[in-house]
Amino acid sequence: MNALAATNRNFRAAARILGLDSKVEKSLLIPFREIKVECTIPKDDGTLVSYIGFRVQHDNSRGPMKGGIRYHPEVDPDEVNALAQLMTWKSAVADIPYGGAKGGIGCTPRDLSTSELERLTRVFTQKIHDLIGTHTDVPAPDMGTNSQTMAWILDEYSKFHGHSPAVVTGKPIDLGGSLGREAATGRGVVFATEALLAEYGKSIEGLTFAIQGFGNVGSWAAKIFHEKGGKVIAVSDITGAVKNPNGIDIPALIAFKESTGSLYNFPGGESMNPNELLVHECDVLVPCALGGVLNKENATHVKAKYIIEAANHPTDPEADEILSKKGVIILPDIYANSGGVTVSYFEWVQNIQGFMWEEEQVNKELKKYMTKAFKNIKGMCQTHECNLRMGAFTLGLNRVARATLLRGWEA
Ligand code: GLU
Repeated sequence: MNALAATNRNFRAAARILGLDSKVEKSLLIPFREIKVECTIPKDDGTLVSYIGFRVQHDNSRGPMKGGIRYHPEVDPDEVNALAQLMTWKSAVADIPYGGAKGGIGCTPRDLSTSELERLTRVFTQKIHDLIGTHTDVPAPDMGTNSQTMAWILDEYSKFHGHSPAVVTGKPIDLGGSLGREAATGRGVVFATEALLAEYGKSIEGLTFAIQGFGNVGSWAAKIFHEKGGKVIAVSDITGAVKNPNGIDIPALIAFKESTGSLYNFPGGESMNPNELLVHECDVLVPCALGGVLNKENATHVKAKYIIEAANHPTDPEADEILSKKGVIILPDIYANSGGVTVSYFEWVQNIQGFMWEEEQVNKELKKYMTKAFKNIKGMCQTHECNLRMGAFTLGLNRVARATLLRGWEA
């Protein structure tokens, strides 16, 4: 099932639980605006190459639309649409004053030089600059993009609109980025895991973790799980996979990947087949990479007791059903990975205030937001007798529906 069909299915199930009016349901499902632009750049060798860029602005009833920009070969309109919708519910679950959006360019960033990436980012910004803004739509990094990408967007946008630091988040600290933003999604994943485990009288210490993806989110989550006494026994990414039943030395793995560019042949563990990671024996499975990785083929073989969705929509609905029947507890994406957008919100607030917070304050506030959101989700689970995914969806949807109804439709 594709990402959009899967997201819409969860949305409809939550709307049914809430007894949402069908007209409101329809209005919440249709995106506010979908943008598709052609981005042609000269490559370093002088030849021209064209890419397609997307920005889907899903909903703005609770505030400016917010969400990352992804550079990945699998970026397509349906996927961006689904991710934009998920951002709407995610911001609402986190209770930050944003709607949802997502963007992307179908490209392979690894195959582009830094100057080609810069040109592509600037052309994309030129095409969408009128439709984004501090109080309309605020992009951020996602897969394949980073703080440098945000710096280029900020610079290009500012040529048209004057210096506007709050038009993007996830910026470099020197350009108004927030301390703690880079680690925020991974740190939020750990706070979310702690909140969940506490329900079962458990803590991170002594539990075993398998982590799929070792980019920004996966490596930070692994590092913090490791610091808190969790045993990370398997890690994979596109370059390979490594396992060690006694626990991988995560700082050593991070240093190894930094120096070699890969996980392959890490001396502190044994190489394994990356496809085995999701079905590896562990207590907690943390998918931190692409969507749809847990499907009906592999779900029956999952051995973890808990799945923490650090990636967006890693579990397709068929896998969801299989895993629930097996009694696996799934902490859904729109809560589990909301630490990134939450600290984006703190960054935006700091830019608007013109005042920089200490990292300690950022992390403390993040923990407060993550803990409160978990309690709110549990509240919905109790009221509606539903699982955590439906608890999170009904929480988000209810907040967005209330804002939409309060605004009304009078033209
Ligand atoms: N790309 C991240 C996400 O999917 C962060 C979005 C943001 O900070 O706006 O949640």
